[in-house]
Amino acid sequence: MIGPKCRLCRRAGMKLFLKGTRCDTAKCPMEKEGRPPGQHGAKRLRLTDYGIHMREVQRAKRLYGVLHRQFARYYREAALQPGNTGDHLMQVLERRLDNVVYRLRFAMSRDHARQLILHGHFRVNGRKVRIPSAQVGAGDKIEPAAREKSRKIIQEAYAIRKVLDLPSWLKVTEEPTFVGTVVQLPTPVELQVPLESQLIVEYMGR
Ligand code: SF4
Repeated sequence: MIGPKCRLCRRAGMKLFLKGTRCDTAKCPMEKEGRPPGQHGAKRLRLTDYGIHMREVQRAKRLYGVLHRQFARYYREAALQPGNTGDHLMQVLERRLDNVVYRLRFAMSRDHARQLILHGHFRVNGRKVRIPSAQVGAGDKIEPAAREKSRKIIQEAYAIRKVLDLPSWLKVTEEPTFVGTVVQLPTPVELQVPLESQLIVEYMGR
């Protein structure tokens, strides 16, 4: 039986990685079928041009766990930057602390990363940060809080997820303790996000 989180993936027509380990295995229902939920799901995929744009925005919000208000703020900030708005928007989403913790493989999902951050299990540059949306920058170091419990939680997630690729803009050292480093900000090529940022920009700019 498919759970509510997996149904969101099926509706979005893409993997949103909402369930931790299961998402990276053949147990993921999206590996078998990518239809929207419901008996007539396949039919619902025929979207209007507007629907295609809106679906891409929904995908982005669900993938990163961002509510519309904050997403709209990210868009406005990205649109003010010189250059490609879509690239700036993707970069600001990727630079969220919860996403970076997930990308470092220190948590099972972005949702899990958010919980751990809120519970004070992470330090950024030596200082405890409890804000999942905090933006990290080049050179920032993300590590477990001083408590043994924090190190253990992160170690457990890392042991399961370390087989997965680490993005080239991040680095992890395991000894003597776990430290994740943002080597540089991700370039558009390094972002590797399965979203069409141009569709998002066109929708948000309407
Ligand atoms: Fe379920 Fe994760 Fe697969 Fe989405 S990516 S369908 S949440 S297992």
